[in-house]
Amino acid sequence: MKTTQMLRLLPVLALAVSAVFAKPIPGPKGGKILTTDAPHAEFFVEQDRTVTVTFYDQALKPVALSGQVVTATAEAKSGKVKLEFAEKNGALVSKQKLPDGHDYTVVVQIRAATAAKPTNYRVLFHDEICKECKRAEYACVCDDAGKEQEHKK
Ligand SMILES: [Zn+2]
Repeated sequence: MKTTQMLRLLPVLALAVSAVFAKPIPGPKGGKILTTDAPHAEFFVEQDRTVTVTFYDQALKPVALSGQVVTATAEAKSGKVKLEFAEKNGALVSKQKLPDGHDYTVVVQIRAATAAKPTNYRVLFHDEICKECKRAEYACVCDDAGKEQEHKK
C-alpha cells in the first residue's frame, strides 16, 4: 500500500477504534453498567424506584457479593437524597427510593470492601424509554450514549 493511501485510511481506523471503546455494555437486568472493566457493576432502577446494584464477571455472569459497600446520592431538584444499600438475593438493594421525577444525577459510590478506596460513578437518571434500543434512557446502549460513560474517580 502506498503511503498516501495509508494516510487516507488512518482517520477511518481511528474512528472505528473509538467507536468500539465508546460502546456501552448492556446491563443484563436492563440497567446501566457503570464499570469499563470486570468485575462489572450494574445500576438498575426497579419499578418501585429502589436501586439494585449487581456485580458481574467479564462474561456478564453474576458474581456473589464479597463485601462490597455501595452508597448513592440522588441529586434531585427537590434536594439530595442519600441511598444506603443492603444485601438482597445476591445483589445490593437500596433501602430508600429515588426521589420523584428524573433528569438528575445519581452519584454511585462503590468500595470493593469496607476499607477500600471508593470509586464514584455518575449516572444521569432519565426514565423515559429509548426508541432505538428500548431500554430506559439512563441505561441506553446506543452509540451516542457513550458520551455519558466517563466517570470521575
Ligand atoms: Zn438507546
